[in-house]
Amino acid sequence: TDASTRDLLLSRIRDVADHPKPGIVFKDITPLLADPKAFTALTDALADLCGAYGATKVVGLEARGFILAAPVAVRAGLGFIPVRKAGKLPGATLSQSYELEYGTAEMEVHAEDLGEGDRVIVIDDVLATGGTAEASVELVRRAGAEVVGVAVLLELGFLDGRARLEPVLRGAPLEALLTF
Ligand code: AMP
Repeated sequence: TDASTRDLLLSRIRDVADHPKPGIVFKDITPLLADPKAFTALTDALADLCGAYGATKVVGLEARGFILAAPVAVRAGLGFIPVRKAGKLPGATLSQSYELEYGTAEMEVHAEDLGEGDRVIVIDDVLATGGTAEASVELVRRAGAEVVGVAVLLELGFLDGRARLEPVLRGAPLEALLTF
């Protein structure tokens, strides 16, 4: 992505203080989604990465990852696979739990959606601690597929999600269009 595209994307992300709880600055992408020029530029940039990585499937992470990954999959001519919070998917699932600051969370994927030979790009809006992305990478691999890259709109650099995720990725790229 060029500097003017990054400037456009950055200008459409809104900081909301103390959401969802005190001390958290929430990075709200709804202004970006509401701007067709910005949303299209983001979709195109992520679809380009699908091509660069040789991806054959696009995994989106609930919930905002769905909004980004679905149009990317269509643009790139690839299938879209949802990774959801536990209990939402109706079919036979694989589950992966991971540690949160307080307690644990669990993500799931339909086992039949991914398998041997699939080259998967994992897409989300924000990389924070990296826990969600890490669990999703594990899920994709347990389904028998290969993770060829993780792409996010925005990386919160001060939370060190990259340091957590990179060893798990074993050389596959982690691409953030913007870093804060
Ligand atoms: P993590 O597992 O800590 O990397 O958190 C990632 C998930 O939480 C992503 O799906 C993000 O959408 C969301 N998230 C975490 N922190 C923020 C934030 N400051 N602003 C917006 N979304 C966030």
